Amino acid sequence: MSMQDVINSIEQRYPHQPEFIQAVKEVASTIQVVYDRDPNFAKYKVFERLTEPDRIISFRINWEDDEGNIQINRGWRVQFSNAIGPYKGGIRFHPTVNESILKFLGFEQIFKNALTGLPMGGAKGGSDFNPEDKSDNEIRRFCYAFIRELYHYIGQDMDVPAGDIGVSGKEVSYMFAMYKNLSHEYTGVLTGKGVGFGGSLCRSEATGYGAVYFLQNMLKARNDNIEGKTVLVSGAGNVAVHAAEKALALGAKVITLSDSKGTLYDELGFTQEKIDWVKQQKAARRPLFEYHREFGGLWIPGAKPWQFDGDIAIPCATQNEVTEEDARSMFEHGIRYVVEGANMPLDADAIDYVRAKKMHYAPGKAANAGGVAVSGLEMSQNSVRQYRTFEDVDQQLQIIMRNIHDDAAAAAAEYGFNCDECIDYMSGANIAGYNRVANALIAYGILN
Ligand code: NDP
Repeated sequence: MSMQDVINSIEQRYPHQPEFIQAVKEVASTIQVVYDRDPNFAKYKVFERLTEPDRIISFRINWEDDEGNIQINRGWRVQFSNAIGPYKGGIRFHPTVNESILKFLGFEQIFKNALTGLPMGGAKGGSDFNPEDKSDNEIRRFCYAFIRELYHYIGQDMDVPAGDIGVSGKEVSYMFAMYKNLSHEYTGVLTGKGVGFGGSLCRSEATGYGAVYFLQNMLKARNDNIEGKTVLVSGAGNVAVHAAEKALALGAKVITLSDSKGTLYDELGFTQEKIDWVKQQKAARRPLFEYHREFGGLWIPGAKPWQFDGDIAIPCATQNEVTEEDARSMFEHGIRYVVEGANMPLDADAIDYVRAKKMHYAPGKAANAGGVAVSGLEMSQNSVRQYRTFEDVDQQLQIIMRNIHDDAAAAAAEYGFNCDECIDYMSGANIAGYNRVANALIAYGILN
């Protein structure tokens, strides 16, 4: 079966899973050349095997709201591949969660985790539960109920979930508590736990910091640096605020953050005090438009950040948030570097646009791998029952991000994807990640 045949059959089987199909096509478009070079990939049906999850666990979650009513949500865990390590990937709580979104995220996670160089397979899970309008007690009860259902399918050597949209350290800690309670064991079954009971220092910061470290390597490859650059960030969640914080610390000027309600623009740039205010405001679930009362700036309801002049864009909110029109607006406003902090924030047309314009583009599976990399470090700290310092983890994170950058750049060069002006990180990241997993599958023969 050719790679196109595989895509056709996926489209026929899963016509209602557009995000998953989008992710598969994106990877396929860049690994065809690798696939063609080694007949074993076709013989062992590597791409067919990698595009069908090992299994999907789907379940119902009953929980009780504050009024004593029984509420019902749907939950899933997509265990995509454990070819190179235990299944690993976040849990998302958001009303848009469905099988297509979790399959796209789990599929991306296979290659992302492989890129880190750590022994982690790919998975993703979540629920259509909406934490936004729930009380703290309701969130706690829901987290307990979620793990009560998922409990049998996870474990420190089997499947190690973490946080994602709607799931921060607080929710991970509730889930960890329920797992510990049911299993009578204290193991590192979830990552992103609170520091002091198994969580790693620098885990919360890792995805955003890592994206900026990746950016630093991109700039360095072009004899440039981040100092004095103007940066547009979207989102105001975990990834966004930490990307903004690190960019600021390294001398950049960050002028936007955003959320699902609109965009916050500060032409003077966010200081650490302002970023801390945003963190506190979001943690307390208060609106960002109150910013101007404290610091001035501009709140634009319903808008995205891509209408302002800048050098670098770091989209950190959600999938498909950047359309072709947004990408064009970025280009027209001077943006030349686009670094994906979120998973698949650029839709397929936006990716085509930035590549056609030879903008320097870092795909999420490479640029946002810092979070799962530090989760991997958390797993090893849990296994040996020793903690690393913040500085130690941060330093390791910088090394991992540099390695991911260099591996992606080298793979792109090896297969002839780079041009004079740019490194094709998208092709390079797909190829480097794919090769690691594909070689394991071939070594296993027919299993997995
Ligand atoms: P959070 O829940 O902490 O933050 C998400 C942010 O995105 C919020 O500000 C949210 O706004 C905003 N947002 C969500 N949907 C939309 C939308 N449709 N339009 C505009 N803004 C939106 O999530 P994270 O920061 O953890 O994750 C963000 C992205 O990064 C996701 O794609 C995630 O998969 C990816 N990622 C996260 C990692 C991690 O370690 N956390 C690791 C690797 C990738 P509001 O507050 O209004 O809902």
